[in-house]
Amino acid sequence: MFNDQDEKNRYLDKVWKRLEARYLQVFPFLTDGEFRELFGDKTIQILENLDCANEACGKCDFEIDCPYYSTILDRCGINPYKPVHCRLWHCYDCGPEHLIREIRELTSIFSDQLGPERKAGRIKQNLESGKISKEEAVKRFLEMIEGFRNSD
Ligand code: SF4
Ligand code: SF4
Repeated sequence: MFNDQDEKNRYLDKVWKRLEARYLQVFPFLTDGEFRELFGDKTIQILENLDCANEACGKCDFEIDCPYYSTILDRCGINPYKPVHCRLWHCYDCGPEHLIREIRELTSIFSDQLGPERKAGRIKQNLESGKISKEEAVKRFLEMIEGFRNSD
């Protein structure tokens, strides 16, 4: 992904600058366009060329105990604002080991949190106990994320 440490440092520096200038307010929930702009074409291209061996398996969502994931939903409850963590993270079945390792490293540098997790956990609990429908859970998730992105 990078030819040497200098190139990597320059890249990381650019991403930090863009993040601080434009995305701190909404981080870690980014739209597709925001994510693309923040990480740049080269990284996006690498991600697009990875081949998620079984997109439906949901193992990675489950492993990080994601509060927005439920088998009742179509995998992700907040698809339009997927957190940076999940946009970057891939398991080693998805491509060459060195690339996956470097991409995972970006995850640990730029995101290790998933926003208002406790509030999300309550929505998920209501969904999984049958108190609210799938549609209602997605609606509440999206309202919560939009509120989070718009807060001062
Ligand atoms: S937020 Fe991320 S980890 Fe959670 S369900 Fe969506 S894609 Fe998966
Ligand atoms: S990245 Fe790996 S664990 Fe996650 S859905 Fe794809 S194949 Fe499954």
